[in-house]
Amino acid sequence: MSRIVGIDLGTTNSLIAIMEADGPKLIPNSLGQKLTPSVVGVEGDHLLVGMTAKEYQVSHPDRCASVFKRYMGSDWSVTLAGRKMSAIDLSCCVLRSLVADAEHYLGEAVTSAVITVPAYFNEEQRRATIAAGQMAGLKVERIVNEPTAAAIAYGLHEADSQKTAVIIDLGGGTFDVSIVEMFEGVLEIRASAGEIFLGGEDFTDACVSQILNQAGMKFEHTEMQEPLRVSRLRRECEQAKRRLTNEASTEVRLPNSQGEIEPDAPRYAITRETFDLWTKSTLDRILSPIRRALGDAGLKRQEIDEVILAGGASRMPSLIKRIEELFERPTRCTINPDEVVALGAAVNAGILDRHESLSEIVVTDVAPFTMGVEICREIGGEDRDGYYLPIINRNTTIPVSRVERVVTRAANQSKVNVSVYQGESRLVKDNQLLGSFEVTGIPPGPPGQEIDIRFTYDLNGILEAEAVIVKTQKRAAQVFTRHMKNLSENQMKTALDKMQALKAHPRDEEENRLLLKWAERLYMELPHRERNRLDQLITGFEEVLESQDQAQIKIFAEELGAFLKAFDSFEGEQGDYGTSPSDE
Ligand code: ADP
Ligand code: MG
Repeated sequence: MSRIVGIDLGTTNSLIAIMEADGPKLIPNSLGQKLTPSVVGVEGDHLLVGMTAKEYQVSHPDRCASVFKRYMGSDWSVTLAGRKMSAIDLSCCVLRSLVADAEHYLGEAVTSAVITVPAYFNEEQRRATIAAGQMAGLKVERIVNEPTAAAIAYGLHEADSQKTAVIIDLGGGTFDVSIVEMFEGVLEIRASAGEIFLGGEDFTDACVSQILNQAGMKFEHTEMQEPLRVSRLRRECEQAKRRLTNEASTEVRLPNSQGEIEPDAPRYAITRETFDLWTKSTLDRILSPIRRALGDAGLKRQEIDEVILAGGASRMPSLIKRIEELFERPTRCTINPDEVVALGAAVNAGILDRHESLSEIVVTDVAPFTMGVEICREIGGEDRDGYYLPIINRNTTIPVSRVERVVTRAANQSKVNVSVYQGESRLVKDNQLLGSFEVTGIPPGPPGQEIDIRFTYDLNGILEAEAVIVKTQKRAAQVFTRHMKNLSENQMKTALDKMQALKAHPRDEEENRLLLKWAERLYMELPHRERNRLDQLITGFEEVLESQDQAQIKIFAEELGAFLKAFDSFEGEQGDYGTSPSDE
């Protein structure tokens, strides 16, 4: 049996790691980097994934997709170069690329994985993640909540201490907070809460929107009319945001409508204060999940012994300041916040693999939502539908199985419709419908025939519902969910065929491909008069690539690279090409 890998399938960046004898190890991609941007592009019938696709996206936003994790489990899709892709298809592309990296690194096939998801991911999003894994040829051994994985990575080093920690994970697109109790190798998640539409990208977008406002433009309108201006400005703002983590002020250049940055492009100064002001309402949104998690764990802010930060966006000074004020203590971030989730996933994979160094560790997790069914209530002598009967309450330790008994309302009622919801509201209309099923064959009789509804919520966060007519013990069961029926073999094959039509480039050419995409992107941004030299360099590089003369390719690549670096740095982003962000 092959070893189980740990995968952090992130909104912005994805990573893959493996448990080794001396601890969890991140596996580098074909560019030698640990972070693979979760960006997918289609160029002709070739697939681009990662940094190359991210570069391609700036110049060809219509052929690339990013932040698709936000649409997991929904009907959303995007058409890239004439190919319709769902969020599952796109995630599958990222997973395949990570798996290829791991296979290259390990020198063996990789067929099973632990994949992390935001703790606040719901049923459909979890199933969609499993489906993406299956499409990528993986057996998904476990879905693990991201903050739980982060806790595992931290807990590994401190198996003998006893404390209550809060994990604050602000990634590119999601925010999670989990409260964990650690003692003697046991990691017990007490409560989780979050927001699946809050992340670092929202801070970048707030910045883009403000700059456009200052320039007399509206975000949505401009994005429709001048997509290249916005995709380039987003890159500018993303880098500015990162610079503001270390510097007090910086500048953003406004690209023209073609996405070019002219030498006399308007410049907008941004200080850390302005940035914090622009993003204050976004930052405020972290408070309510924190309050909810503390409330569910029955803890006061002062009872937290340690505050652990995870996720790239947790580097923002405004976030750190707010959290430190809230918990009245310094935060802790001794493991790189970009990497901690993947490292924890690898440890979790090691636990499942019965890795000997990990036999002492026990991890428990909780259900992030309340789940229940719709019931009818008698109000003032009248039957009213639409009420919610919770069966599994949020933050119950999982796996869990719970039963509630309901009864028929009418005489000789032969069937009951069971509608399953998740959410915290009293009324089902304010909760999210997960699916419904019918219980038929209820024997004739007076009202009040009993039916037991059992919910089973497993370690992956997957719900199964079952109803039993008490008198006859007849059973009706339903596996969820609405959108993501378990993929049938046929559907899987169709999906796979579609993906197979897209070829991946050979991995040893990835660095040169990235160089080309980078050069093409910069070419589009450069004003005309600067373009000639770059054009010559690109053409020369393309020619030697054709010739396959490795020595020449190296020389041309270096020359092109030097030109690109002179004009355009990747400051604050991936360090430089070839170096990992963890080395910063
Ligand atoms: P995800 O888990 O969603 O893939 P990551 O944990 O990789 O996300 O975090 C990505 C987010 O972190 C992006 O929004 C990025 O802009 C932000 N980020 C990364 N580094 C910094 C930094 N130095 N300062 C501010 N934000 C940062
Ligand atoms: Mg993450």
